[in-house]
Amino acid sequence: MTPAAQLANCVAAKFVKADPLDLVALCHELGLRIREVSAKGFDGALIRSKAGQKGIVAVKASIREASRKRFTIAHEIGHFILHKGMSLHVDQDFRINLRDGSTNDEEIDANAFAAELLMPTDFIGRDMQKTGGVGQQALERLARRYQVSARAMEIRLTNLGLKTPL
Ligand SMILES: [Zn+2]
Repeated sequence: MTPAAQLANCVAAKFVKADPLDLVALCHELGLRIREVSAKGFDGALIRSKAGQKGIVAVKASIREASRKRFTIAHEIGHFILHKGMSLHVDQDFRINLRDGSTNDEEIDANAFAAELLMPTDFIGRDMQKTGGVGQQALERLARRYQVSARAMEIRLTNLGLKTPL
């Protein structure tokens, strides 16, 4: 587990009592407010207060898939917790990339944080013990339960060394 994922694991252990994670409640605990904004050219942004203790997570209102919106918000929470010096951060569409195929360490860390927050290793491990394996249907069921896309769940399971059908 990377340091970013470890930190997310701590946050998840502290705040996640049941899946799926209540992102609004978590943001409230952390001093963050979520604002849906009409925006072009970016998916999400983090605006931190001057003192650094509070912030606003802006997410593009027109994102249709609830799962993508959740991942975007979780990604911005990652920036808030991991990158303290960052006063304003804007994530253009291409940055939030589940594959981590990109960009720079901060984005990779924020994605790892988001994945761990939304799909905590402990929870996934427990579920996998119950289900035994992952067929296509189980994968989709897991994705629904954690309110992430099937693709995000597939990548997550692969990264955790678990077999997926695709
Ligand atoms: Zn980012």
